[in-house]
Amino acid sequence: MNENQDSRTNDTAPQREMTRRGMIGYLNRIGAGGLAAAVAGGGITAMACDLAARPAQGRQFRYGMVIDTRRCVGCKACVVACKAENKTPPGVNYMLVLNNMIGERPNDKPLFTAKPCYHCDAPPCVDVCPVSATFKRERDGIVVVDYDRCIGCRYCQTACPYGARYFDFGEKYPAEVRGTAYQSVLPSPEYGQFRQRDGHASPVGNVRKCTFCVHLQDEEGRYDQAAGRWPACAKTCTGRAIYFGDFHDPDSEVARLLRERQAIRFKEELGTKPNVQYLI
Ligand code: SF4
Ligand code: SF4
Repeated sequence: MNENQDSRTNDTAPQREMTRRGMIGYLNRIGAGGLAAAVAGGGITAMACDLAARPAQGRQFRYGMVIDTRRCVGCKACVVACKAENKTPPGVNYMLVLNNMIGERPNDKPLFTAKPCYHCDAPPCVDVCPVSATFKRERDGIVVVDYDRCIGCRYCQTACPYGARYFDFGEKYPAEVRGTAYQSVLPSPEYGQFRQRDGHASPVGNVRKCTFCVHLQDEEGRYDQAAGRWPACAKTCTGRAIYFGDFHDPDSEVARLLRERQAIRFKEELGTKPNVQYLI
């Protein structure tokens, strides 16, 4: 079995690749002229689904997202849900929705892309950290930041090619809850740590990013969609455009979507192997 073959699907990446020219024609036919222009301009280069990445040694889960650009309506409910779940301060956004409307023809449709951290399989942010404060978890591949180790140098923020990292400058929302500062009453549950953002205490002065709402996992590392223990953005998406799950589970919705639909990953040429893929 070669590197591009997945034992679970008996499928191979080359079978699911599409030529660059074919892809540009397809995007134009479905009215996604903006994305076609981006492909033609070299901004998006690879079209392989890569269900095929070999499981890392000891990796129990491979969590990731599949985001359907045809279903996203750009409402930003995911952005708000993420803010509400993770209690992130001003200027720190674990989820964004970009409008990639770059086509100039009258019939070009807007193309929205929801953008969390991609939890890359080869994350450059991890490689540059001088104190190993940011790392990829062995069990599930989620890229996290240890706030107690982070020295705030921001190398990782610079290294991320997707702009997924934010520095916490200590800003707060002026809102009060029961007469007390909002973030004192409602500390972020991220990493299950419920830290108070007072003064210069972490995570103030640290780099922060999307965690796939890892605090919602149980002790065995599992999420439970029916019980609501599911990443806030995916749970809230009004257009049902954000799918979350375990790529290692062939019965998961994300694995099925990658088998059945054409998907792309951004900046594939960098070799970062993002675990967030976009259906087009
Ligand atoms: Fe790191 Fe950026 Fe990849 Fe997230 S998207 S794992 S921050 S390189
Ligand atoms: Fe590591 Fe923190 Fe520096 Fe990022 S800001 S590279 S996590 S020490």
